[in-house]
Order: sequence, then C-alpha cells, then structure tokens
Amino acid sequence: MTRFSKSFALRGLVSAFALACTLNFIGTANADILIKNVTLYDGTGKAPVKAANILVKGERIAQISTSTIQPGTATVIDGTGKFVMPGLIDSHIHVRGGQGGPVFAGNNRTPINEPEAAKPTLVGFIYSGVTAMLDSANNEPFIYPMRDLERAGKIVSPRLFVVGGAISVPDGTGAGPTALKVTTWDEARKGLDDKFTRKPDMLKMILTEPAAEGKKQTPSLTSEQIKNVTDYARQHGLRVTAHAMVETTSTQAITNGVAALAHSVLRGPPLTDAYLKMLVERKIPVSTTTVGFATIGKLADENGMAYLDDRLFKDTFTADDFAAARGTERDNYIKFGVTASFKAGEAQALANIKKLYDAGVILTSGTDKAQGPYIHMELAFLNKAGIPAPALIRIGTLNGAIYMGQEKDIGSVETGKYADLLLLHADPGAGVKNFQTIDEVIKSGQRIDLAKLDLPVNHKK
Ligand SMILES: [Zn+2]
Repeated sequence: MTRFSKSFALRGLVSAFALACTLNFIGTANADILIKNVTLYDGTGKAPVKAANILVKGERIAQISTSTIQPGTATVIDGTGKFVMPGLIDSHIHVRGGQGGPVFAGNNRTPINEPEAAKPTLVGFIYSGVTAMLDSANNEPFIYPMRDLERAGKIVSPRLFVVGGAISVPDGTGAGPTALKVTTWDEARKGLDDKFTRKPDMLKMILTEPAAEGKKQTPSLTSEQIKNVTDYARQHGLRVTAHAMVETTSTQAITNGVAALAHSVLRGPPLTDAYLKMLVERKIPVSTTTVGFATIGKLADENGMAYLDDRLFKDTFTADDFAAARGTERDNYIKFGVTASFKAGEAQALANIKKLYDAGVILTSGTDKAQGPYIHMELAFLNKAGIPAPALIRIGTLNGAIYMGQEKDIGSVETGKYADLLLLHADPGAGVKNFQTIDEVIKSGQRIDLAKLDLPVNHKK
C-alpha cells in the first residue's frame, strides 16, 4: 500500500467514525457524489459552464467535465436546471459565546466561554450557505475548542479559521482582556510564542486612527511594532490582517508587512489613487464589512428592520435573537449615535467600495457579524455599490480563501479542492438575491440535510 493510499484509507476510517458521531445532525452518509448536468460557476470568475458534471470522491472534488462521467457507486444528483457555486466564505465574523456585554463596552467586554450559545449560530451559517469563515478575534479558551469541534466533525459548522485574541497596545482599540497588548518587543515575542502554541490560522492587529483635532489620541501600535509582529508571524508561516479604518493607518499597516485588511476603508475622504495602487500591487485582500450600512444605518427608520422578515432570518433566528435585534441592540445603536453616523456615511461607503472594485483590489465578503444571513446583506450592499452579481460570486468565495491563505484547499470548484458546494435553483450570475436559493449545502463532500438542522425553521414543522 502506498503512503498516499494508506493515508487515504485512514482518512476514510476517521471520517466514518466522525460520521457515526454526527449522523443525527447531518443525516446523510459521506458517499461519493456525482452532480449531473448542472450550470457551474466555479468561483474563479470564469464564465459559467453549462451541462457540467462534477464528481466528488470522499471529501474532495475528483473530476469536472462536460463529458459523461460514470457514477460508479456515487450518489447521483440531477442538476438539470440548477446551478453549482462554491460555498460562501465570510472573511470576518466573531463566533457568539466568547465575549459578554454589549459591543459598546469596548475594552471592558468580559471573556466568556459559552459553546451552547455558539452552536445554533454556526448551524445558521451553514443554512445560509457559508462553508468557511474567519473568526476575526475572540476569547482564546473559547474559540480554539470550537475550532477543534468543527475539525473533528462533531458540530454542524462552516470551516472555522481563527486568529485567537487580537493584538493591540495597552489602552488601545480592541485592547480588552482577550488581546495581546504589545509593550517591549521581548514581552510581545513571548506573547506571540504562547499564541503560536495554539496554532492560529492568521493573526490580527488593531490600529487606531489619528484623533480629530483637539481630541485625545488613543494609543496604537507603532510602525516598528507592526513590522516586528508581521516579520515574526511570517517566520512562523502566518499572515497578519489588520483593523485599520482610515487610509493613513491602513497604509501604515501594509507598508509594515500586513498581508490583508479586516475592513475596507469606508469613511473619510475619497480613497486616493496611490492607496488603491498599493493595494493592487501588493495583492492585499480586503474584507469589505459594509453590512452595518444596510442594517445599523436604517435602525431609526420606519420599516428599518424589515430585513428581519427575509427568509433566512426567519428560518434561523430564535425568538430571543429577534427580541435582542429589535430591542436593546437597536436602542443602543441609536442611543450611542451609531445609527446616525452609518446613515450619513452610506454614500461615501458605496463610492469607496466601487473605487476599490474598479481599481482591481481583491475584495472578500466579510460581515463582522455573528450570524449567517448577514452575508447575503453584505453581498447585496456590494451589489448596490455597483459590483455585478457574476463578480460577487468570486468575492463571496475564492477571494475569502485567498484572504485566509487557504486557496489551495477551498474557495473554488476545482479538481483536488475540498467539495464545499452550494446547489442553487436560480442563477447566481443573474442576480445576487439568487445566492439565497439554496437547495443543498455540501461541506467536505458531505451533503447536509437542511431540513434536519436544529433551527427554528425545522422546529415549526
Ligand atoms: Zn470584527
């Protein structure tokens, strides 16, 4: 037995075991699958392929062809009149259950460890078509065990990639109890060495924009500190993403080795050509995180929460979720003036997104949320900014994999990659709303029975 076939056989055994554990949640055996006669959007941006046949063997895509593929023992799915695209990737989320208190508590949020709060939200992400995501800062004793559960196949969840706690400075933005606060380089390196023992998938640092005139400056990482961290991370094979909300801090991050941006610059003066050129030349992927403009910005309006009546919200949100969204969360956003500032900034945000897209920047859909349906609002906002649906397929999939450095394994429908697929009943290239017409979600070659997931939509039946 060759080493390859041995490890393959072993993997089969392991996945059979994982299957036995998860059968109650998932409901479908991990048999090989042949999707026949489907229109394929592979996520790379190529034109769709009509009458494609896709053979999935085990966890991965084995063959794609417009010629007949013999199914052998594979389960055949008739894709006639349907569409396949890669599973969606949300490149900026925070799994619920790791941090207590309102978002507005800033550095005073308390670390918590509540896996039971996380689990239904992870199921909701899958139901919404998300098959991979990056937790973009959380409580480490909470998030690493969640990632372990996902990787062992013990919970229904998108692939979970994590940065662990964020990296900031004492009293800086995002410098709460879960963060590594950089002081001297000796101390910081010890903190990073400790972090590396838990094997983060990426690192994230948080920079603070310069204060407005007459306002007190919040401390922020210096250029030297940024460079030390990104150099050291690179030596350990890790990419660093940064929270940098304005062009100056964003530029500071990139020129000092940051490889990706956790937010797009949405406010302030129009983006400069020099900045756009830098992002393109250095191939810096940018997580868009615009959804606040579509949600928070409208909270004070009459019917401003109508989006909660959309199918995916109704199917996945519990009564408590709705109560929180319509109650304290909404009240706080209005009370703290966040709603007004988002509303005022919408036009600028739309213009900046269009500029990034037109310049050829690698955009990836990220929501900065903790629940699945928001990915579709994010994509809709990008569409409103002027990005057409066919381009959004790549922004919603492969570009997220590139952002995380995972593009060898996920993000597109190509031979050899994990079979993370959506089967849709309407053409995603014809409209971004069609991304929601999900008939099937397949993760790692496993068909997930949406009708059996532990979600409000299935409790009503
Ligand atoms: Zn975030």
